Amino acid sequence: MDLTQRLKDRVAIITGGASGIGFATARRFAAEGAHVVIADLDPVSGARAAEAVGGTSRTVNVADEESVDALFDGIAAEFGRIDIAFNNAGISPADDDSIETTGLPAWERVQDVNLKSVYLCSRAALRYMVPAGSGSIINTASFVALLGSATSQISYTASKGGVLAMTRELGVQFARQGIRVNALCPGPVNTPLLQELFAKDPERAQRRLVHVPMGRFAEPDELAAAVAFLASDDASFITATAFVVDGGITNAYVTPL
Ligand code: NAD
Repeated sequence: MDLTQRLKDRVAIITGGASGIGFATARRFAAEGAHVVIADLDPVSGARAAEAVGGTSRTVNVADEESVDALFDGIAAEFGRIDIAFNNAGISPADDDSIETTGLPAWERVQDVNLKSVYLCSRAALRYMVPAGSGSIINTASFVALLGSATSQISYTASKGGVLAMTRELGVQFARQGIRVNALCPGPVNTPLLQELFAKDPERAQRRLVHVPMGRFAEPDELAAAVAFLASDDASFITATAFVVDGGITNAYVTPL
């Protein structure tokens, strides 16, 4: 048994694969033998990321139905299969804040990119996984799908709750068709998304850090290891779960000094 090649010859689409958790996962998937498709809105960093992992890049807007269908249809036509869909692209813009100040356009944009995208990408992946009778879908939710935060990002939190509920339902619905669907619930991760937020407001950053029992944010590679596990046959009896990788935050009351 070669445990370094758990994903050998599998075709994996990673949305938001050009940066952060997506790019770290692309590196990990490729190291474990997968052919990786980096699907990102940013064509330049997408192409760079694909080159770094010996994969393929496709430009996609995950909030757009035609763009998502073209991605999955195109990859299935080219490679003959889609084994893994890591539906991971997401945004956390500054104008999504307290419910008292967040306008409808900001609310809708976040819902479109974070939640509608997971519906579109899961639906497109299932068109190929159902006839094949196999597949692993991993949708990126968040620890805020499980915990309320007083440093509010109201639409982001609601979108991630939706991702988690949708994932659970898909996992149950397709369990007897050989397809596993799991949600990844990261705690705060040291990526451009978080760095941008924190650079703008160090006080808010500090308020978040104090709640993490491990006393630090996750590194993207630590999430990538979890995603590779969920994608692989090592997770063959795991579906419809909220897979929490959070340094202990969702189970903490008083944290260590
Ligand atoms: P990131 O900003 O480093 O990367 C996100 C990638 O998604 C970028 O490459 C970006 O170009 C791409 N993207 C954005 N909008 C897109 C669109 N409409 N279509 C296609 N691609 C698009 O972010 P990250 O921190 O790696 O986050 C990845 C996922 O993890 C997100 O869903 C995020 O909500 C979630 N998450 C992050 C954290 C964290 O602390 N960083 C914690 C919990 C969950």
